Amino acid sequence: MAKLIRKSGEEMISASATAFDVAVIGAGFAGLSAALVLGRYLLPTIVFEAGETRNHRTKHVHSYLGLENISPSRFIVQARRDVLSYHSVNIIKQRVTAIKSSKDHFLIATDQNQLPIKAKYIIIATGVIDTKPNIKNFIKIDGKSAWHCPHCDGLETAGKSLIILAKGNGAISYAKEFLGWTNKIKVFIQDSCPLDQSQRHEAKRIGIEVVENDPLVEVLKVSDRSSGKIKLLSNSGKVYYSDVVFYHLGYNVQNNVAKQLGCELEEEFIKVDKRQQTTVPKFLQQEM
Ligand SMILES: Cc1cc2nc3c(=O)[nH]c(=O)nc-3n(C[C@H](O)[C@H](O)[C@H](O)COP(=O)(O)OP(=O)(O)OC[C@H]3O[C@@H](n4cnc5c(N)ncnc54)[C@H](O)[C@@H]3O)c2cc1C
Repeated sequence: MAKLIRKSGEEMISASATAFDVAVIGAGFAGLSAALVLGRYLLPTIVFEAGETRNHRTKHVHSYLGLENISPSRFIVQARRDVLSYHSVNIIKQRVTAIKSSKDHFLIATDQNQLPIKAKYIIIATGVIDTKPNIKNFIKIDGKSAWHCPHCDGLETAGKSLIILAKGNGAISYAKEFLGWTNKIKVFIQDSCPLDQSQRHEAKRIGIEVVENDPLVEVLKVSDRSSGKIKLLSNSGKVYYSDVVFYHLGYNVQNNVAKQLGCELEEEFIKVDKRQQTTVPKFLQQEM
């Protein structure tokens, strides 16, 4: 079984002990969930942790039964603690940079480890990265009064004014998701893809305002007014106020590892079968 050396709080893999049953790539909610179960089966497991979780900028996580309103950072700290209570599991703060199949195992290289780490099975849990609005000072509201997922944070718009930053394609159907919470909705089309006439009519019919050809470019100010607390500037110089901002601009699937292994993709996501197996067989005959 592989052994982890802990040195001055830093974790590193010992050169003589680099074979694991399972390597989990990504230590977000998915990767740590998998590692927890593997720990209970006493399987020698290594979890690679690099970067932040997708929701790290938001203050509270919702709709996890028993953990309502927990902060993402507290959630992850507790999840790591749970996982590390099983001694067959190790977590290392390293990014996987290369991966290949060999005769009877996979070989994994990281940004810090010169020696490839071996594992019999790979779990890819690398997540997605959301495309944030390319507007000045967005960081001031990101996760505090700006989110992207109605299912997670739509309640924040209840009875409030809402500005949505979206691409033309899909903007109106996204905006409609908020109608149970608010009817004060203004949609800014941030790209050059125009709405078609039927979308414009539908938006008008249900009272959603749409601004085309004048994208928002800057968060000017965030005040503590009870309403209209975010002051935004459009490209033409107009000023708008809103209580809450949502954005719907897509995401990048973190599929580099999967691509290196030759996994088939479907719309950038890893194609899996009913048992969540990728199209790559257990081992290929390659050398790293
Ligand atoms: C603002 C916001 C609010 C949200 N609120 C909620 C909510 O209230 N409730 C809810 O259920 N969901 C919420 N979500 C969604 C939730 O964040 C995601 O569903 C969840 O993070 C997905 O977990 P994951 O493990 O698949 O991916 P992630 O959390 O993104 O974790 C993947 C991890 O893998 C790492 N990684 C990537 N490539 C490598 C590599 N090569 N080597 C090593 N590590 C790698 C990444 O850096 C990352 O740390 C929210 C999301 C956002 C953005």
